[in-house]
Amino acid sequence: MINIYRYLHKYLGIVRNNIVKIIPENSFLFKWMTIIGLKINARSCHIPLTSMRIGVYATEHCNLNCRCCTAFSPLADKTFLNIDTYRKDIEKIAELTHNNLDLFYITGGEPLLHPQISDIIIIADQYFPKTAKQIFTNGILLLNMPDLFWETCQKTKIQICLSRYPIKLDIDQIRSKAKAYNVSFDFFGGRDVPIKLMWKYPLDLEGKQSLRRSYNLCTQINTCVTLKDGKIYPCNTIAGIKHFNKYFNAKLEVISDDVLDIYKVEDINEVYSFLARAKHFCRYCNRRGIVLGIPYGSSKKEITEWT
Ligand code: SF4
Ligand code: SF4
Repeated sequence: MINIYRYLHKYLGIVRNNIVKIIPENSFLFKWMTIIGLKINARSCHIPLTSMRIGVYATEHCNLNCRCCTAFSPLADKTFLNIDTYRKDIEKIAELTHNNLDLFYITGGEPLLHPQISDIIIIADQYFPKTAKQIFTNGILLLNMPDLFWETCQKTKIQICLSRYPIKLDIDQIRSKAKAYNVSFDFFGGRDVPIKLMWKYPLDLEGKQSLRRSYNLCTQINTCVTLKDGKIYPCNTIAGIKHFNKYFNAKLEVISDDVLDIYKVEDINEVYSFLARAKHFCRYCNRRGIVLGIPYGSSKKEITEWT
């Protein structure tokens, strides 16, 4: 079946990248257009899977400290992906998917902070040689990465995707370096994506949101599936909430139904069914309360950045 919503979402993204040059992100008109875009995006995300994309956090902390970070990285202690656990988990996912995913991505935090980032890429390539692979980075460390990193990217054909924050980066030099190593490089969101303003998807500390409405408006479903410590997390929010809970002494509870133990799964369709249903945790997500166009700035680690 042709997924018309995926096409619509793709082209709306291009429209958005251009319209934002003339309409401020914090205006009512832009918010209204965004809510419509999110609804369409959510429709595209909710179509049941027959294959999937999955990501891992190489680190959960970051060398930037952006306010409203959806990965909660400003609140995270230093956390590096354990290579042995990762290899075991990847092997299990490869077995379940017959070594075939739509996309495998490495993210964070800032993944280039991981001292074994090249190993992480190589392991992904060993188990998913035919799958498209991407690494998402803020780019700060790119020009200091050793030759081994660039050679690994070249050999595994992983694409480097740069999130476009308003920070000082020599993009021309990064492009030249990627070109010299024959490594694919682009901005996350596409070549014409505007420099980032921040968006806030507020959490409801009391968990009083309609679970169904939050889920129906959620654009992380099926697209931000995270593999961590033997479990599949359906979204970044559940995957990172422990940092929020720890920092603010909050109690946004993740229950066993919110995550899936991959070692109890025998058939990939169990994963797709798990991803296709609303989670207990969705009641903490106030998806309608989205705040757009927040000027980029450093996190002060105040709870209001996430609520
Ligand atoms: S660069 Fe990305 S992961 Fe790092 S703090 Fe900023 S928003 Fe979070
Ligand atoms: S908890 Fe539910 S609504 Fe919130 S981001 Fe995750 S899947 Fe989406």
